[in-house]
Amino acid sequence: SMQVDYQAILDAIAEEVAPLMRQGRVADYIPSLAQVPLAQFGMCVVTLDGRYYAVGAADKRFSIQSISKLFALTLAFRQLGDGLWERVGREPSGNPFNSLVQLENEAGKPRNPFINAGALAVTDVLCSHSVNAHLAILHFLRRLSGRNDINFDHEVAESEAATGHRNAAMANFMKSFGRIQSPVEVLLDSYFHQCSIAMSCRELATAALFLANRGVVPQSGEHLLTASEAKRLCAVLLTCGTYDAAGDFAYRVGLPAKSGVGGGIVAVVPGELAVCVWSPGLDANGNSLAGGMALERFTTLAGNSIF
Ligand code: GLU
Repeated sequence: SMQVDYQAILDAIAEEVAPLMRQGRVADYIPSLAQVPLAQFGMCVVTLDGRYYAVGAADKRFSIQSISKLFALTLAFRQLGDGLWERVGREPSGNPFNSLVQLENEAGKPRNPFINAGALAVTDVLCSHSVNAHLAILHFLRRLSGRNDINFDHEVAESEAATGHRNAAMANFMKSFGRIQSPVEVLLDSYFHQCSIAMSCRELATAALFLANRGVVPQSGEHLLTASEAKRLCAVLLTCGTYDAAGDFAYRVGLPAKSGVGGGIVAVVPGELAVCVWSPGLDANGNSLAGGMALERFTTLAGNSIF
């Protein structure tokens, strides 16, 4: 196949999106996110054959927030296989990530694993299998990225807990339908800690490579998922991974992706690479504004969306 000059593409993208960095708004529901300076951008591409291309603040760690939901889901899917879908659905929600309304209509079964209610249901599965689900997720991310110093940001986790009334409401509401097995406090503590993990674009792109590689970690050869399971998770990412803008994101970018309110977005080109972009300014849907544009330009310039 034709050699793509990813470095030239990343350099061009960094220049193009620079004016957008300041136009978004940082998440302001907790102080440690509200204080992050707006004008920052980093991007990293990792290919399945181990080449790295980076631009800007690609090595700066940020709060991965909802990107953790992708890795929690991978662990839960490994444990339950298709049985997982009895606990959580796989349809786009059409509502904001922290919405409660659909839970009542669907007897406490969250619409998908990437809205908060669904992520809580997934974390509940992990809590049933290990004493500290958030530690299992942390260790998984360390193993996948090869970086043992990745950690929780305890200040972020504490602020999440102090302001997480809506997440507490969801967990309690689901529990009232008999859909949560762990004590709600244990579940919430795990969820807030997994959201608080700090990682860089380079580390996140590396960690996501198995999804681009039919479920096999290219560095170690470890089979995390079958090819079929990896395909299925990519499908859920495409339809549900970018909040209430998954349709627009699929239209503009055309890749399975997961975003977080810390401003990170990780995406994969199956068979080729994983890419992560970070810029803390968010658009109205909670996706990184410059990050979304960077990925749109990436698939356009590299000609490599899944479509
Ligand atoms: N910790 C955030 C919450 O549960 C996650 C937000 C996100 O990245 O979507 O509200």
